[in-house]
Amino acid sequence: MTEVLLAARGVVKSYGNSPALRGVTVDVGEGEIVAVTGPSGCGKSTLLYCLSGIMRPDAGEISYRGARLDTRRESERSALRRGDFGVLFQFGQLVAELPAVDNVALPLLLRGTRRREARSAAMVWLDRLGVADVARDLPGEMSGGQAQRVALGRALVTEPHVLFADEPTGALDTLTGEAVLGHIVRVVREQGTAVVLVTHEATVAAHADREVALRDGMLDPTGLGFPMASPAAVGAGPAAAGPRHARTSGR
Ligand code: ADP
Repeated sequence: MTEVLLAARGVVKSYGNSPALRGVTVDVGEGEIVAVTGPSGCGKSTLLYCLSGIMRPDAGEISYRGARLDTRRESERSALRRGDFGVLFQFGQLVAELPAVDNVALPLLLRGTRRREARSAAMVWLDRLGVADVARDLPGEMSGGQAQRVALGRALVTEPHVLFADEPTGALDTLTGEAVLGHIVRVVREQGTAVVLVTHEATVAAHADREVALRDGMLDPTGLGFPMASPAAVGAGPAAAGPRHARTSGR
């Protein structure tokens, strides 16, 4: 692996009495695409929230560029998120009242970039992602795939070192999802951006350099997120024999 950029060490996190992560250790290298996989409820999103500093673990450590992240104050963690991290969720969470170009420009404006400069950088990203033609459209006027590409532009306009993507194609049909993933992979490779890609779909994980499989809040001891790939997936239960791509939740 290349130099470690982001690391979780023995991360434990519970919601009240229900454990979500029970001691997870993961490294993400510079420019590496790491898929975090596993069935719904296994702790993927919680791991993403901990790695990105959105959430503090109950125990264990998160470090970024060799320095502890989880012990920093919320203001410092959110400054880091604005500067070094980009996030992309299942639904792009675009601002409904703003046209695409202003949605993409927003993170730059929040950093104090002048409006004209921010809009022109946003246009470059829309063009790179093949959605320059919707620059003046509101999110409600775009297709799901266009909206997700605009959201990707917004996540990358600040040129982050890490992109956190939580089921980024989960709301799209297979073909549109593949196209959006193709854009994600192409631009992060061009930029050298590392990606933490949360998914429960093997076809999505196949785009990653490496897969970290979770099961019940721990690293899957088989090391394989998709049980069909492993005849040795002991105790995986009858669901393991089902279709691998079946959506098990509405996430
Ligand atoms: P995944 O992303 O793999 O679906 P999550 O990280 O969302 O898993 O959830 C892990 C576990 O924590 C699940 O059992 C889920 O029900 C629980 N959980 C997640 N968020 C909350 C919450 N806000 N309050 C209580 N339990 C939660």
